[in-house]
Amino acid sequence: MTRIAIVEGDGIGHEVIPVARRVLELLHPEYEYFNVDVGYGEWERTGCPCTDPDIAELKTADAILFGAITTPPMKDYQSVVLRIRKALDLYANLRPIRGDGFDIMIVRENTEGLYSGLEEVMPDRATTLRVVSRKGTERIVRTAIRLSRERGGFLTIGHKANVIKSDVFFRDICIAEARAAAVPFNDKFIDALSLDVLQHPKNYNVIVTTNMFGDILSDVAAYLVGGLGLVPSANIGDHYALFEPVHGSAPDIAGKNIANPIAAIRSAAMMLNYLGDARGSWRIEKAVDAAVSSGICTRDLCGDAGTREFGDAVIACLR
Ligand code: NAD
Repeated sequence: MTRIAIVEGDGIGHEVIPVARRVLELLHPEYEYFNVDVGYGEWERTGCPCTDPDIAELKTADAILFGAITTPPMKDYQSVVLRIRKALDLYANLRPIRGDGFDIMIVRENTEGLYSGLEEVMPDRATTLRVVSRKGTERIVRTAIRLSRERGGFLTIGHKANVIKSDVFFRDICIAEARAAAVPFNDKFIDALSLDVLQHPKNYNVIVTTNMFGDILSDVAAYLVGGLGLVPSANIGDHYALFEPVHGSAPDIAGKNIANPIAAIRSAAMMLNYLGDARGSWRIEKAVDAAVSSGICTRDLCGDAGTREFGDAVIACLR
């Protein structure tokens, strides 16, 4: 029995994930779905945003569908998302940006870099350690090389090696691996790359980069497809996989039934692909396209459909 953990999280996670879940339940009523409640809301209720038993429960799932979690700017609050990514060693964050004439896969290292959690705050100085390890770099660039091959594409290595020593290290390992694998590649400084992706998206196929650069680049590149409400992602490790929209909990629009559920629905499509149902994944993508083409869309895409109503339209297209 395939078991799917559902984590709505906080904010619009409570609105977009139920829509994605309906889509999954329609295509796969035989799966077992179970909720795991973690996040800021849990912290407010119980004083703990994510317990060890929560992590253990997540590990029992074949795949996790995840909404978004609020991380309040409090000194001692540990990010739940980072904790889950580390606990499940979800080292590859895949963020597809697909549009008219371009199909980019951003491959972001997901467990180290500036998000290693090695930080120190003192009265007159704060430090965050940026860790780039050989093991972490090799496994992420090998993932990117495999995807480049599968897509018959081209690999771009994004870095800031002109300034940051840990990026010289990252770039050199990536180049050595790409040469050894004989995949076509180039490398670019991340700042110039961010603008060039917007100006010439057709020149890119697979982009591999470090944790924070990948996080920022994918939000920037979301501009190409209509915003954060549309971009899904997969967090993949050797043993576990978690699928989530790229966006956060969006407190500014939460509870209003106006969030775009496309990113969450597409994350469910990525999940089906991972679970071996490529046709189900394709059907979801087509149903989303059909709903949007029929003129039904949420406010961020200049429509007037609510989150639930857009979900109804996708379900109708699937049926
Ligand atoms: P955000 O992605 O939540 O929102 C940024 C902007 O995009 C907002 O104006 C929001 O209204 C809009 N937006 C986001 N998703 C949308 C959707 N589906 N439909 C329509 N508009 C949408 O980023 P933020 O405001 O920087 O962060 C809010 C909270 O989310 C913070 O606590 C942050 O830490 C958290 N966050 C969590 C994750 C995660 O759980 N993986 C990722 C990013 C941010």
